[in-house]
Amino acid sequence: MADPAPRILPYGEAAIAEATAAIAHGDVVATPTETVYGLAGDATRSDAVAAIYAAKGRPSFNPLIVHVADLAAAERIAVFDDRARGLATRFWPGPLTLVLPLRADAGIARAVTAGLDTIALRVPGHRAMQALLAACGRPLAAPSANASNAISPTRAEHVAASLGARVALIIDDGACAAGLESTIVHDGVILRPGPLSSEALGLPAFRVETEGEITAPGQLASHYAPRKPLRLDVASRKSDEWLIGFGEVMGDATLSASGDLIEAAAKLFDALHRADASDRAGIAVAPIPDHGIGAAINDRLRRAAHR
Ligand code: AMP
Ligand code: MG
Repeated sequence: MADPAPRILPYGEAAIAEATAAIAHGDVVATPTETVYGLAGDATRSDAVAAIYAAKGRPSFNPLIVHVADLAAAERIAVFDDRARGLATRFWPGPLTLVLPLRADAGIARAVTAGLDTIALRVPGHRAMQALLAACGRPLAAPSANASNAISPTRAEHVAASLGARVALIIDDGACAAGLESTIVHDGVILRPGPLSSEALGLPAFRVETEGEITAPGQLASHYAPRKPLRLDVASRKSDEWLIGFGEVMGDATLSASGDLIEAAAKLFDALHRADASDRAGIAVAPIPDHGIGAAINDRLRRAAHR
């Protein structure tokens, strides 16, 4: 049986007050960020963190990203070296997650890091997540607000469709601007490509690792998967496929008719949600250039295509 419908409130004072009360109670709420919608709970409470894993059906070995209001709050949780502080100063608030040594006295629930001695931290720029962090006054663990292994949500409706009443409240502030999960960096190495490209960060390009070398579960080969088979680099679709276009390939719906990669990233997950919901048996995607944020788009598409 389908879950009952969750409560959705538009971003504003009432939504932030209700979400703050829910988080103080140990519950989880969905909130937009500039990357994707996140499922937020108190990172210092093991019951709240357990509720995040349970709502997503996420395996407990897959650590969560912790969101904080600013660099000072981040430095109370993790140890920054000069390189990490330099990146934080340049790119926070923004779609950059730094993996750093966890302070022993940080007060973060153990399950957040899945027992690792490092922690993934981010200062988000989105007004809703910023308001929630300010009102809660504590770090918030927030993975993407979708059932584990499903396509990440970039709209409140995606969260509702994926999690139903497993989330106490969804704050709706429209579509996410970046539309892809944050770029994750550890010791100058990109662990997950994202909205901030290697060119923008001044770091070596993301390298696809072999499965045996996986150090972070976000690197699992199959992730972000639609239910239907997915073919990549397709110029013309088979009759039973929904074609997601780009540039000259128009398709059934296009990521960007003008070939703009930033527009394409913002639309990618919504396009995959729509293709998955269409009456066609399969999904095909036009070729996407691999430079800039295109590297992150192709990374998500490769994982979505992997069975
Ligand atoms: P999500 O919250 O769904 O965007 O996924 C968060 C991702 O952050 C995980 O899948 C990991 O890849 C990564 N992550 C979180 N904590 C760590 C950590 N301590 N070390 C390496 N990667 C991490
Ligand atoms: Mg996720």
